[in-house]
Amino acid sequence: MSFSSDVKAEVGNVLPAEKHCRIAELSALLKYYAKAGKSAAGGIRVPFDNETACRKCFTLLSKTFNIETDIFGKNADDSDNSALLTAENCDIKSIFSKCFPGDTEKLFRGDCCKRAYLRGIFLACGFVADPNKQYHLEFLVPDEETAKRVVRLFGDFGIEFKESVRKRSKVVYVKGSEAISDALNVLGAHRAMMDFVGARILKDVRNDINRRNNCDTANIMKAVNAASKQTEDILYIRQTVGLENLPATLREIATVRLEHPESSLTELGSFLDPPVGKSGVNHRLRKLSEYAEGLRLKG
Ligand SMILES: [Zn+2]
Repeated sequence: MSFSSDVKAEVGNVLPAEKHCRIAELSALLKYYAKAGKSAAGGIRVPFDNETACRKCFTLLSKTFNIETDIFGKNADDSDNSALLTAENCDIKSIFSKCFPGDTEKLFRGDCCKRAYLRGIFLACGFVADPNKQYHLEFLVPDEETAKRVVRLFGDFGIEFKESVRKRSKVVYVKGSEAISDALNVLGAHRAMMDFVGARILKDVRNDINRRNNCDTANIMKAVNAASKQTEDILYIRQTVGLENLPATLREIATVRLEHPESSLTELGSFLDPPVGKSGVNHRLRKLSEYAEGLRLKG
C-alpha cells in the first residue's frame, strides 16, 4: 500500500459522532460524485474505482439517515464502472437537500464540520506523497468553487494551500513538511501523521548527521519513539472507551498530545491550563499508557 492509500484507509475509518459533521462529509463525497448523482433505480451511484470513498458513502448514508442500504456491488451490466448504493424506503431527495443546502456555508456548524468536509474531499480526490520521497499533498478538485473552499477551510486551520491547473483540472496543493503534518492532523489521520513526522525527522537527522553527535541523534529518536507510543496509546483509548471517559487531567494531556505530536514534554506542559511542569506531564502520560495497557489486557 502507498502512503496515500494508508492515509485514505485511516481517514475512511473515522466516523464523526455528530450528525452535522456526517452530513458535511457526505456533501463533500457526493459533490465530487455529482455525475453519479441519483439513479433511476432509487439509489445513489458512486464510482467503484475508489473503494474507500465508496465504502465511506455507504457507511455515512446508512448511519446518518438510519436507512437500510443494500450491499454495494458493481452491476454486471454496468459499463460506467460505478457501484449502486440502493437505499430502500428512503427519500433520496431529502438526503440530497440536506447535503446541498443551497448555501454550502450552512454545512459548517464549527471546526468539526470543516474537518469532516475536508476528509470527504480527501477521500474523493486527495493524494499525499510518500514522505521518504517528497513533501506534497494535493486535491484534484472538480471545480473552481471547491478549490476556493478547500483553500479557505485549510486557511481557517492556519494552513496555506496554493492553487494551480493541471491539464485543465484544478489542483489545490501544499508542499511544506510542517503544513502537511498539520493537514493530516486536520483530516484526523493521526497515525499517518506520526509516521509522517517520524519519516521527516529521520530524514532531517540523516541530512544533518555530520553536524550532530550520536548522542543528540539517539535522544531525538528516543523522544520520537516515546511520542509515537503515547499517540498509539491515546488512539487506542479513544477507540475503545473514548477520551471523554477519562479523568479531566488525563483527557486534557491526551488531547494536547494528539494536537502536538512533535512537542517536547516541557512544551506540552505549557499548553495546559494551568501549565504543568515536565515531570507532571511525564506522570500523566505514563498513567495514560498504563491505562491503555490495562485495556489491551482486558480487550
Ligand atoms: Zn460538526
